[in-house]
Amino acid sequence: MTFVTESSSNQLPQFTILSGSFQPNSGAPRADLTANEWQNTASSATGAYIHVPFCFHKCHYCDFFSIAGKEDQHEQFVDRLLVELKEVGQLLPELETIFIGGGTPTLLEESLFDRMLAGIHSSIPMSSNVEFSIEANPETVTAQKAISMVEHGINRVSIGAQSFNLELLKVLERWHEPSSVNRAVDFVHEAGIQNVNLDIIYSIPTQTKEQVRFDLNQAMALSPTHMSCYALTYELNTPLLQRLHTGAITRVDHDLEADMFDIVTEELESNGYAQYEISNYAKEGFTCKHNLMYWNNNNWWPFGPAAAGHIDGRRWRNAPRLRDYFVHTPLPLVEDVELLPKDTQAGEAFMMGLRLLRGMERSWVESLVLQSANQWRQVVIDRNCDSGLLEWKKNHLALTVKGLHFADSVISEFLTQVDS
Ligand code: SF4
Repeated sequence: MTFVTESSSNQLPQFTILSGSFQPNSGAPRADLTANEWQNTASSATGAYIHVPFCFHKCHYCDFFSIAGKEDQHEQFVDRLLVELKEVGQLLPELETIFIGGGTPTLLEESLFDRMLAGIHSSIPMSSNVEFSIEANPETVTAQKAISMVEHGINRVSIGAQSFNLELLKVLERWHEPSSVNRAVDFVHEAGIQNVNLDIIYSIPTQTKEQVRFDLNQAMALSPTHMSCYALTYELNTPLLQRLHTGAITRVDHDLEADMFDIVTEELESNGYAQYEISNYAKEGFTCKHNLMYWNNNNWWPFGPAAAGHIDGRRWRNAPRLRDYFVHTPLPLVEDVELLPKDTQAGEAFMMGLRLLRGMERSWVESLVLQSANQWRQVVIDRNCDSGLLEWKKNHLALTVKGLHFADSVISEFLTQVDS
């Protein structure tokens, strides 16, 4: 399904359904909301995601919308983003979490970076205990940018370390020196932000278990409050997948990857990082509010090209094209709008909720089962409890330790009913 908005700078966008199955009002294809109503749903958001679509190089595993080598468009982008922020910001309530991601937000030149942060800070209402995060590529963090972050309210920085082994970074075509992670963390700490996440990727072709331990230990030596550790995935239309198909690289074998997952959990937990989601670990009091918002299926508003949003079962994303973003203002073109049927909403709630180690509250599970046609998900729950992959932990339904290794397949059973 595709929506296109048409607008001039003084008009709200008009939505037109171009294709797809979403026609909640019978009769001719039309949107279920007027442009005004659409924009007003921003008042239900608890968070915001802001996408900055520039990188200095495209990593081979990356399927995010980001463009390398468009430095001449950075300023135009910031100007355009500030218009969108001002337009929607006045409708937002005080948000609990804001995440500036990308792309590489820290790629912007220092003065432009400062102007963007100032604009975000002044446009978006924030609660007194907001988590205001930014994603950073270690190579692009400077002392001045870290100071700008603090001046404009950022209180959490997520740094893409991925690995501290230069050879493995090369396999990923990830362009940064391992030492730049240390430098970036120092800048951020010195500026006054202690809440730092480090992203680590494991299961990289040729990687050994010892190398996984090395990366974890290098990362922990920098005292992050939070660690996100993901097994490498081979996304469609990425150079990495192409290299896999041509035999240029070999995938880490499934059993070895499972061992690496165990190593990650053991190493981090024994150093005080509690696993609270399949791939996320935090020191006490430092779980990531923003990710929890996604996993708890809450509402957030998207800013910038390719940013995806969700409000009360309606999902959409802004068109992933800079040229459209520059032309369509104040709100961007919107694509892939879906108003999820109740049954699909239930499936997605399980998909997100079961990723959390504490699991899903019984009352939430029961209401989602009732929402499922013929309550078919109760059968899935019972079957997976019988086979030891799911369990009731007091009042929560959660993956077992064994189930964590099969999380994807267990969760997929909740998405679509399969005739038995
Ligand atoms: S820096 Fe991040 S967003 Fe940019 S190409 Fe690499 S993985 Fe993708």
